[in-house]
Amino acid sequence: MQSSQLYDNHGRPINYLRLAVTDRCNLRCFYCMPEEGIKYLPKKELLTFEEIERLISLLAAMGISKIRLTGGEPFVRTDLMSLIRKITSIEGIQDVHITTNGILTGPHIPELKSLGIGSVNLSLDTLDRDRFKMITRRDEFEKTWATLQQLLKAEIPVKINTVVMDGKNIDDILPLVELTRQYPVSVRFIEEMPFNGEGNHYATLSWTFKKILDLIRSNYPSLERTPDPPHSTSYNYKIPGHAGDVGVIAAFSRTFCGTCNRIRVTAQGVLKTCLYDDGVLNIKNLMREGRSDDEIKAELLKAFSNRPKDGFEAEERRSGTPAIESMSTIGG
Ligand code: SAM
Repeated sequence: MQSSQLYDNHGRPINYLRLAVTDRCNLRCFYCMPEEGIKYLPKKELLTFEEIERLISLLAAMGISKIRLTGGEPFVRTDLMSLIRKITSIEGIQDVHITTNGILTGPHIPELKSLGIGSVNLSLDTLDRDRFKMITRRDEFEKTWATLQQLLKAEIPVKINTVVMDGKNIDDILPLVELTRQYPVSVRFIEEMPFNGEGNHYATLSWTFKKILDLIRSNYPSLERTPDPPHSTSYNYKIPGHAGDVGVIAAFSRTFCGTCNRIRVTAQGVLKTCLYDDGVLNIKNLMREGRSDDEIKAELLKAFSNRPKDGFEAEERRSGTPAIESMSTIGG
């Protein structure tokens, strides 16, 4: 199978797929999902492992080389490790990464290491057990913390993802930055996005990336900007003498669309070519209608050549309809 380069209609290379393997989660982070009344997808609505393998093989042949498994919580999906084993052996797939809350991850770390997982993004919004419980509506801080320690011990690169929420975890920003003194982790602060499954919208954001950075810089004046890796969604910084580093992701301000190299497939098998679009192609239906590989590739190419230039255009295309999805079906 010969892999090739894939470009969108704006000349941006596409080489990165973020795949939500489930919409189910063992936390109820208030910025992501409602506490109750969540309508989980019936299992038959999820892509099967065979369908996922087929999709990734097709995309790998087209030019996708990096995969991130996300959810929902990926480790809630039964037998996730067997899927990871298969994905890591697909020709053309060079990097496999996982985004997880860490609660069920610990026992799998040795195998993740041996499979050569590129990195784990661990979601952790606070270092305080009570605030963790308030934000996630579950008392599971200790498990996430233990997973962080195990990942570090196994020397799997770890990024901590922290959603910055006005009035909720502002007091955690500096302690999380302080973690980088001792630990070789990247702590990335993410602007809160309007994907909480309840359609609650705000036109402005209080804790923008600029405000987050100002707070960090006023406490760490030696903060140094470091070069951004290609397609980075974060502005990256280092504090001299610290083992880890710090990043800020302007997810709401959307400053990084110009170099966006990623596509998403939701838990129900729908392609999104922009986080802010409405879903542009139902891949699961194509597969279940019995379409051939070539037919599916042609549909994928059509979608890639009609990509909005940025998240604002994507929102306009959905005629201003506010996003009501939960991030747990999109995968972050
Ligand atoms: N369950 C996994 C986890 O917790 O990492 C993977 C799925 S979760 C939806 C992926 C990422 O999306 C997490 O880092 C989470 O914090 C982030 N996320 C969810 N809702 C968000 C929102 N409204 N704004 C910004 N980030 C959000």
